[in-house]
Amino acid sequence: MLMENLLPKEIEDEIKRHPIVYVPWGAMEWHGEHLPLGQDALKAFAICCRVAERTGGIVFPPLYIGHQTLKVYGFPYTLEFSRGLVKKLALELLQQLDAIGFKVIVILCGHYGKKHLEAIEEAVKEYKSKGGRAQVLAVPEYVFAEDKGYKGDHAAKWETSIFWYFYPSMVHIERLIGKEELKGIYGDDPRKYASRDLGEIVVNVIVDRLVEKVKGMLKEASKTA
Ligand SMILES: [Zn+2]
Repeated sequence: MLMENLLPKEIEDEIKRHPIVYVPWGAMEWHGEHLPLGQDALKAFAICCRVAERTGGIVFPPLYIGHQTLKVYGFPYTLEFSRGLVKKLALELLQQLDAIGFKVIVILCGHYGKKHLEAIEEAVKEYKSKGGRAQVLAVPEYVFAEDKGYKGDHAAKWETSIFWYFYPSMVHIERLIGKEELKGIYGDDPRKYASRDLGEIVVNVIVDRLVEKVKGMLKEASKTA
C-alpha cells in the first residue's frame, strides 16, 4: 500500500492491522551511463514494496535527498544536500510517522554514503532520546546479504543486477560496451558480472531476511505497547 494513494480510513485500518511503515531513501545521483539517476531510491522502493507485500504495512514515497553523493567529484545531474538537512528530515519524519501511530519504522537506505548513513543514524538516536516509541530500523539493503558477497557497490555488479531484476527496461548495459573507463562505477565491472539472475537471487535473500527482521520488531513493539 502506497501511503500517498490511501484514503484516511484506509490508513487508519492498515495501522490497526499492521502498524509498519517503510521509507525508501535514496538520492538523485549519477550511476554510470547505464543506470538512471534515481537508482538508489527506486531500488529501495522496489524492495520495500516486496517486503510490505508479505508483512503488510505502508510504503512511504521514495526520497531523493542524498548527502555525500558523487557531486563532490563533479559528476553532473547529481543533487547534494547537506548533512544537517538529511538529519533533520529523518528526525522530523520519524517523529511524525510515530505520531500517526506506526509502531515499526523501516528506513531502507539505497544510497549509502558513509556520512549520509551517519546523519540518519544520529537522527534515530535523537528520536529515541526525545521519547520516540516506535521500533526503528535504518540500514542499507546490503546488510542483509553481506554473507552472499554484497557489501554495497556503486552502479557496479550488485546494484546493476538488482536494478536489472526490478526494472529490466531501465538498464542500458549497451551504453558501456567498448568504454575503457567506467565513469562513476565503483565495484566489479557490471559488463562482466551483473545479471538479472544474480539480482533475483540477492533480492530474495534481502527480502526474506528483512521480512523476518520486521516480524521480530513487530513482536517487540507489541510487548512495549
Ligand atoms: Zn547507488
